[in-house]
Parts: sequence; structure tokens; C-alpha cells
Amino acid sequence: PAHRLTDPAGELARLAAWQSPLRAQFPILAGPPGPAYLDSAATAQKPQAVLDAVGIYLTTANANSGRGSYPWANTTTALVEGARDRVKAFLGDPDPDRSRVHFTSGTSEGLRTVARDWLPALLRDGDEIFVPYEDHEANLAPWLEARDLLARQGVRIRVRALPYQASSGDYDARLLAELAGPRTRFVAATHVHHVYGADMNVHRLREAVGPDAVICLDAAQSVGHQQVSLAGLDVDFLAFSGHKALALPGTGAVWARGARGPAFRPGGWEGTPNTAGVAGLVAALDWLEEAGPDRIARWTTALTALLTDALSRMPAAYEVLGCRTSLAAGSEVQRRGSIVTFRHRGISAQDLGFVLYSRGFMVRSDGHCQAGRSVRETSVRVSVHVYNTLEEMEGLVDTLADLQ
Ligand code: PLP
Repeated sequence: PAHRLTDPAGELARLAAWQSPLRAQFPILAGPPGPAYLDSAATAQKPQAVLDAVGIYLTTANANSGRGSYPWANTTTALVEGARDRVKAFLGDPDPDRSRVHFTSGTSEGLRTVARDWLPALLRDGDEIFVPYEDHEANLAPWLEARDLLARQGVRIRVRALPYQASSGDYDARLLAELAGPRTRFVAATHVHHVYGADMNVHRLREAVGPDAVICLDAAQSVGHQQVSLAGLDVDFLAFSGHKALALPGTGAVWARGARGPAFRPGGWEGTPNTAGVAGLVAALDWLEEAGPDRIARWTTALTALLTDALSRMPAAYEVLGCRTSLAAGSEVQRRGSIVTFRHRGISAQDLGFVLYSRGFMVRSDGHCQAGRSVRETSVRVSVHVYNTLEEMEGLVDTLADLQ
């Protein structure tokens, strides 16, 4: 074998024993071994509990929400309203105000909702907003569009680049001081980078901007993968994708701190909501909480550590983008969670993606929707979730060693 993780304290063996029955709960992964699914940063697979919750809802209570007063309609309204509480509890928000949660089709729509429904009322002529230029396009386009819309109304906003190193997750202390300027009104940040896998030091943003500026967080790659606590983050908006957190495609939510004003329309829907999706989202959050987000993060960190350790032993063939993962306690690079992105020095990302699929691995190989990247800057992204196994990662490492 090209590489194995050592496990002197038995932590890996304990995690593997915990993980094995959980994997068995994902029907799409059952049956004879097929290609390993290593593209969970794009969307995650669904446990049986989520499929059941959706099926039960659709076969026992399917109706519209917030309208009608017969039992199915009441059940549906209660489901959607209760789901707002579920999202708040999952994110650690004790406030009883349900209107803080608005359901969306994913993170893109969540961020766009903040930009459209709320940002214009906040910004004044001459304000500055800070946005990430190296992150997912979903966390750039809405802010630029809001600026252009305001410009047509005669309100000039200056958009500035958030001073950070996306590859390591660190903010530059000297540049952070610029955020404290009196004109800073809004900061759009990312929790975990979707290419580099780095867990950004988001709490440093609040220290930098002070209590008055508004921070909006793209949590697409953190919610469902690790413990996400609003108390620790101190942000004003948080958008995430239900579908990356084991719920159905086309689901997600955005949370808003109530004190910031009436962010969303009461009820939060412009039409008929995706009620079945909401039923699945509640089941997914229940499932994740029972499995334990911390334990999920320890498992995926072990899997990505195995891969980055192995790739770093093959520097002539592979270049890892972003920081390395290490299992060493207190290690600065331990913050990489479930994503590893790399390039082969002699094979294009597209070709490597095809070869890997032919050898049994489904990976992403393109520019990963990263803002401002040219098509030449493609890479292979391996992203894991709770259902991936050590054997899958060892198999991938053996294959990559073979392709050196
Ligand atoms: N932001 C980040 C960091 C992402 O990784 C993604 C998904 O790829 C998105 C936003 C967009 O999420 P969605 O597809 O749910 O709109």
C-alpha cells in the first residue's frame, strides 16, 4: 500500500467502528462496491432517515403551507414553522423568533436573498463593503449586482477585497485593520473554503470590524460537516445548503440575526415552499446531531489527512492546493476538514478525473466555480463526508501512487 495512517492512540479505530454502521444507512452506497463517491462538497448523499421523512410526509400530509385549515394543511404549516426552530437549534440560536430562518434552494439563493431583500436598505452613499474574491462565485456575484443596482440609483458603494489568504484560512492582521475603517458597513465571508478546505478564522472578522458592521457568512462547506455555533461566530447572516448537509437537492436556509431589522418577508416564501424538502432537512439535521458534528469532523479530517500526507510524499507528481492536514493536536493545519484539491504535474485535471473514474473514484475536476479563475486553472477536488471510508481513501492513494 502506498500509504496508511498510523493510529497509536487507537482514535482512528474507534472512529472507524462508529462510522461503519452509519455508512450502512446510505442506500445509494449499499450493495456491491461501486465507484467511491468523493464529491460531497458539490452535494451529499442522503441517509435512509431523510428519504423516509420525505416519503412519509408526501404520503400522509402533503398540502400547502400557511394556507388552509384542514389537517394536512395544518400539519404542513406546523412542519415548516417547526423546521425554522430546528434550524435555529442546530445552529445554536436560542432566540424564539422563527422569522430568523428563511428556507432557500441552497447557499446561492440564501446569499442572493440577503443581497436583494436586505443589503440595499443598509448601504449609504460612500460605504465600503468587503467581499471574498477568491471564493465561490455564489459569494461574489450577489454583492457586485447589489452595488450595480445601487449605482443606478445614484448610491456609490466601494467594493473591496477581503484581506485574507484563502489557501490557509488566515486573515492578515495588518490588513484586517483596514476593515475597522468608519465606512465599513458590510463584510461577506466564507466559513470553510470550497477548494482549499481551509476553515477560516471568522471570529477574527468581528474583532476587526467591531460591533456595528454587518457580517454575512457563507457556511455551505461547514454546516453538516462540523459543529457550527452562531455564538462562536458572531455573524449577522449565515447561509447554508441543505443538500450538502444530507438533505434533498434544492434545499437550504439562511439565518438572520433578528435585531438587524426585518430582513425577510414574514413567512419567508414567495410562493409554495418546498415542503417535502423541509421535511427532509429536519430529518437530516436530526441525523447529523445524533451522529455528532464533532465526530463527523474528526472522521473527515482523518480521511483528508491520509490523502494530503500521501500526496506530500509524491511532490514530483502532485501539487496540493492550500494547507496540509495533520492529525497532530494543536497543529495549525488541522483546520482542513473534508476537502483536498490537487493537480498532477503531468496530467490535466480533466484527464485525471476520467482516469480516476475508470479506476473507481468519482471526483470533481474543473475550476470548482471559484470566482475569477480561468479555465486553465483547473484541479481535482476530493471531498468526503461521514459515509466515506478509510478503504476508499487508501484505494485512491494507491491509484494516485500508480499514476505518478
Ligand atoms: N458557497 C460555497 C462555499 C460552496 O461550496 C457552494 C457550493 O458549491 C455554494 C456557495 C453554492 O451552494 P448551492 O449550490 O447550495 O447554491
